[in-house]
Amino acid sequence: MTPEGELLLLDAGAELQLDLKPYLLAFAQLQSALIEGNRQLNLTALTTERDIILKHFIDSLSCDVGGWLSGAGHVLDLGTGAGFPTLPLAIVNPAVQFLAVDATRKKIEYVSRTAASLGLSNVEVLASRAELLGRDSAHREQHQRVVARAVAALPVLAELALPLLQIGGLLVAQKGQLSAEELAAGQQAAAELGSELFHVKHFELPISRDQRSVVVMRKLSATPSRYPRREGIPSKQPLF
Ligand code: SAM
Repeated sequence: MTPEGELLLLDAGAELQLDLKPYLLAFAQLQSALIEGNRQLNLTALTTERDIILKHFIDSLSCDVGGWLSGAGHVLDLGTGAGFPTLPLAIVNPAVQFLAVDATRKKIEYVSRTAASLGLSNVEVLASRAELLGRDSAHREQHQRVVARAVAALPVLAELALPLLQIGGLLVAQKGQLSAEELAAGQQAAAELGSELFHVKHFELPISRDQRSVVVMRKLSATPSRYPRREGIPSKQPLF
């Protein structure tokens, strides 16, 4: 990472009330790993230092704006892709255990290699689809927190993620554009799945001033046994 990149990361982190100075080396290693991994695996379209810092690292850290994740012991990151938000969050929250899940095995293998090379002992990985985990007793109603960045529209995400939560657990969904219609559909899906729309926070990302929303859903009762429906159906036929 260049000296300008370090300053950008520190300034943007400060806007999120985070002192990232102790983590500069880890973020520099993560940047190198992403650029290297991208040569072979086509992990991300964002390849400039500025974009990687603001749109991957800072954007991922902003998933915890309300402190819903750093306050938990365990977080499952659903649809982690190239490790976002898991890897940035795991760097700054060493006491929180992350489980990074994605349907694409090559991405999960990259996340595993990268976490190991950064010495992140608080990151585990799993290559699977949410619809399968939601019917697996090792994961159904077992997790305290599920986070998801840029995975699916809220009603789809609700069906994929809420079955994984313990009663009282929280789904923290970070969204770019969030329409009133998507939010209303997400609220209806949450109710159908024994959950409630608990909190919505709209904010701007540091420096870029891009709009983001964090939507928090809370599980109130056991998910009806018919959910999640079989693989692919939640996105092909959203509940609402
Ligand atoms: N969260 C990452 C980020 O913000 O950069 C990746 C976002 S990418 C647009 C969506 C990811 O979700 C993909 O890697 C995809 O494989 C994964 N995904 C989509 N549906 C899934 C499902 N049903 N189960 C598991 N992973 C899924």
